[in-house]
Amino acid sequence: MSKGNLMDVIDLSVSYGPIQALNGISLSVSKGEIVALLGANGAGKTTLLQTISGLIKPTGGRIEYQGTDITGMEAEKIVERHLVHVPEHRQVFSTMTVIDNLYLGAYHHRKKTKLKNIDRNIERVFELFPILRDRKDQLGGTMSGGQQQMLAIARGVMSEPELLLLDEPTLGLAPLIAKDVLELVRDLRAEFGTTVLLIEQNVTASLKIADRGYVISHGEIVKSGNSNALLNDPDVKEAYLGHTVN
Ligand code: ATP
Repeated sequence: MSKGNLMDVIDLSVSYGPIQALNGISLSVSKGEIVALLGANGAGKTTLLQTISGLIKPTGGRIEYQGTDITGMEAEKIVERHLVHVPEHRQVFSTMTVIDNLYLGAYHHRKKTKLKNIDRNIERVFELFPILRDRKDQLGGTMSGGQQQMLAIARGVMSEPELLLLDEPTLGLAPLIAKDVLELVRDLRAEFGTTVLLIEQNVTASLKIADRGYVISHGEIVKSGNSNALLNDPDVKEAYLGHTVN
């Protein structure tokens, strides 16, 4: 692992049968950074996050996290290391209350009898997401899209993420709500020092909160740089900034 990096992805490849979704991806994330993954639909962004979090086994390359090779490790073991994935499409449990959704996010703490930590984390989550405290007894499925997204992130926070992988957290949200959700991501870093690797279809908004970004195309990294450089890059502007909401 390079000195100072929280995670290094090294020459990672993934195939779905004959389809090569990732083809030798290398990237790194330092502690405390917010890093954006940009790219068109089908570029391989979701596959990358799913592979990091142990849901998909790579065909080549490796992933080092906090100095340990976690390539091919079970997803449950990876989340125990505080590498936490909040997938696309929210996936809150619609027939469970907000508070029960949050308890479920702390599920892997059950063995460690860290019940005190769970209550402390619920308190921390409520401070960061006051709307969830107000609605703690409401069923997840009856919340608005933005509130469900906040619940999905809050559930991830219950696993005490050191590195949070966020897949399209603003998908389907109205622009103002989307802005709130992205601001929350920044608050998470400010409050807890959480490092974030973020897929976001709104390239401008994501680069505004991110420190750096990588552009993925057809399973390969085609560009990387700090957010300002990417925002001003003519290729990025042409490919992704023509049709985004600011
Ligand atoms: P999107 O923004 O649409 O989610 P993405 O950049 O996240 O796109 P992926 O979903 O990772 O891209 O898809 C990368 C490639 O792998 C695409 O060609 C896609 O069709 C293919 N793919 C993704 N999931 C599967 C699967 N379960 N089986 C077969 N092919 C898949």
